[in-house]
Amino acid sequence: MASDSVPGLGRVVLASGNAGKLREFSALFAPLGIELIPQGQLGVPEAPEPHCTFIENALEKARHASRVTGLPALADDSGLCVDALGGAPGVYSARYASMNGGEKSDAANNALLVRELAGQPDRRACYIAVLALVRAADDPRPLLGEGVWYGEIAEAPRGEHGFGYDPYFHLPDLGRTAAELAPAEKNAVSHRAQALRELMAKLQRAAR
Ligand code: IMP
Repeated sequence: MASDSVPGLGRVVLASGNAGKLREFSALFAPLGIELIPQGQLGVPEAPEPHCTFIENALEKARHASRVTGLPALADDSGLCVDALGGAPGVYSARYASMNGGEKSDAANNALLVRELAGQPDRRACYIAVLALVRAADDPRPLLGEGVWYGEIAEAPRGEHGFGYDPYFHLPDLGRTAAELAPAEKNAVSHRAQALRELMAKLQRAAR
């Protein structure tokens, strides 16, 4: 595919300040002739995430970055949804404990999750990731990718890799938690990887 064949794209703002995401996404988008520029470099302040769905928050972040810079923008939103908790912590995954009187940390979030699920036999959960790519702030046809990674919440933490809820996110098929997977293993199958694959497929179709 010609590197300039994705219409309207070239330089794209990444609506995130996360260096890991920039590295991972840049490597995947480069072959499509797309250069990702972190929004901090262009003076874009963090967007609010006021919505109750991942998709709306991802779109809000992408539209915000595009509005401020005048460039196409890519944003993601992700979190953990636990069946027995009615889908919580969901879009509030990063702020789960801090919204409930605790501190804003992975350890506090995990401690709250364990307390909420004490004695609960239904341990089913999934990670969700949504990616949104807009060509302009008011793009009527954003490109979206969604990934869902199914697992269960373990009784006790295992593993040293990953971040967030990974030590408790047990994958029955693999017999390990997400934190027991090497980074490359996780990156091949995770919710983010699935969302990215879906978005890339749509981008490639758009570049037909
Ligand atoms: P964000 O989409 O990067 O803002 O992530 C939202 C929150 O969801 C994170 O702070 C974590 O609490 C949780 N989360 C999302 N993806 C993962 C993951 O791959 N592992 C562990 N926690 C995750």
